[in-house]
Amino acid sequence: MTSESSFGHVIGGEEVDSLDGATFDSIDPWLREPWAEIALGGKADADRAIAAARKAFDEGPWPRMGFTARGAILHRLADLMEEHAAELGMADTRDMGKPITQARDNDVSRSALNFRFFADHARLSTGEVLPMDAGHHTYTRFDPAGVVAAIAPWNFPLMLETWKVAPALAWGNTVVLKPAEDTPASATILARLALEAGMPAGVLNVVHGYGPNSAGQALTDNPAVDRITFTGESGTGKIIARAASAHLAPVSLELGGKGANLVFADADLDNAVDWSIRAIYTNTGQVCLAGSRLFVQRPVYDEFLSRFVAATEAMVIGDPKEETTQIGPLASEEHYRKVKSYIDLVPSEGKMVTGGLGEGWVVKPTAVVDIAPDARLCREEIFGPVVVVVPFDTEKEAVGLANNTPYGLSAMLFTDNLHRAHRVAAALKAGTVWVNCFFIRDLRAPFGGMGDSGVGREGGNFSREFFTEPKAIVMQIDRECQSPQPAPTSVVAF
Ligand code: NAD
Repeated sequence: MTSESSFGHVIGGEEVDSLDGATFDSIDPWLREPWAEIALGGKADADRAIAAARKAFDEGPWPRMGFTARGAILHRLADLMEEHAAELGMADTRDMGKPITQARDNDVSRSALNFRFFADHARLSTGEVLPMDAGHHTYTRFDPAGVVAAIAPWNFPLMLETWKVAPALAWGNTVVLKPAEDTPASATILARLALEAGMPAGVLNVVHGYGPNSAGQALTDNPAVDRITFTGESGTGKIIARAASAHLAPVSLELGGKGANLVFADADLDNAVDWSIRAIYTNTGQVCLAGSRLFVQRPVYDEFLSRFVAATEAMVIGDPKEETTQIGPLASEEHYRKVKSYIDLVPSEGKMVTGGLGEGWVVKPTAVVDIAPDARLCREEIFGPVVVVVPFDTEKEAVGLANNTPYGLSAMLFTDNLHRAHRVAAALKAGTVWVNCFFIRDLRAPFGGMGDSGVGREGGNFSREFFTEPKAIVMQIDRECQSPQPAPTSVVAF
């Protein structure tokens, strides 16, 4: 295989095979055949990557070089990613069937932006100076935490990997990234580009492999890791939290979701339909934030549903490598089987108004109505292009329906009533609420979920908190001023 279809680990500045030479195939889910050969890492490879990251952190220049020099390398990496957008985008498209326009145009540019944003955010970040009485002040420092293990899912491979790697690197940490086994290729390309951008050896390492009893678990079990940042299923998050607790490594967990989408009768219906379609069918519904539970106020229910179904049926399904394709196959056979099991449930739980199974591993954009809010299709994360549409009468009822889930990642609402917008946004159990829009993000804002959707927040200063060790430095600045009996409220003696 060529380097276009062969992807190794990247450890200590070199692309390497597994120590035992093992490999696995990455399957193109449209063709349903292997397209790339990947190094299959195990514990020994993960430990080797951690050792390289540890050495680069303890002895190398990266944590010591300062924000400007680090930022210059991260910006250079972003430039290279933009230059290699076609290659990076096609890697994700071949690995998981994401339509190429989404992979190349959206995900790669957003991934490059992750590096630009966090490089600048870290450089421009300010600490606090706390003036104290009695001739002292306290100031804060944010020192890099150390070695970060970043474990990523397959649905936005490059984008979610860089959402973790970029802030970790910008704050001076070194990283071992484990991409999902279904989507390994773009991570190796990213690490190759990082070396080309001038990143020192061992700063960004990539190790491929599976989760349990494989490279993933080895990363979470190793006490030389100082931070674990994970995005994936809620069940996996709980396993990782347990592993991290054994050596008290702080964890950030971005987990599953079952997003509610509330459409009130006073909403701009064109806008609501447009965003609702994107909210559930973008990335073939394989989105943690997906608006997979659509609650529509009864006076506009029929009108909304007929427009929604018409827009759904206009979507282009096909080969994800084609520029016009909007819906590709599901990411893998295993995932197809999972989503199919929910499609098979439809006759017993509700009525399908559009969609169903397609060719190969395709599930067509599907909408289900006449369904009880406590049905499995309404409560469980399907992670496919399947939406349930449920009518409601009152605002209180809508909020109750929306919050009736163990998840709490995202929600959206459509209304032209300003008071309702604020009231409902405050009442929804979700880490992010969108009003009359969806997917719009400010990278300074907290991102994450509550309940089964995760622990912690990332973005802006929230990423800084996680990827650094904040330190308080208390200084005497005026000896004359020191009172023998200080009793001010801001100064306390332990
Ligand atoms: P997953 O939990 O199966 O796997 C995620 C990663 O964890 C993979 O790299 C996998 O190899 C690794 N892993 C699995 N078991 C492990 C273990 N015991 N120890 C260490 N690593 C292990 O998730 P997935 O199927 O890849 O991703 C889909 C899920 O991710 C969905 O639930 C989705 O909602 C969620 N997700 C959440 C967000 C968010 O921001 N909250 C974003 C995207 C996806």
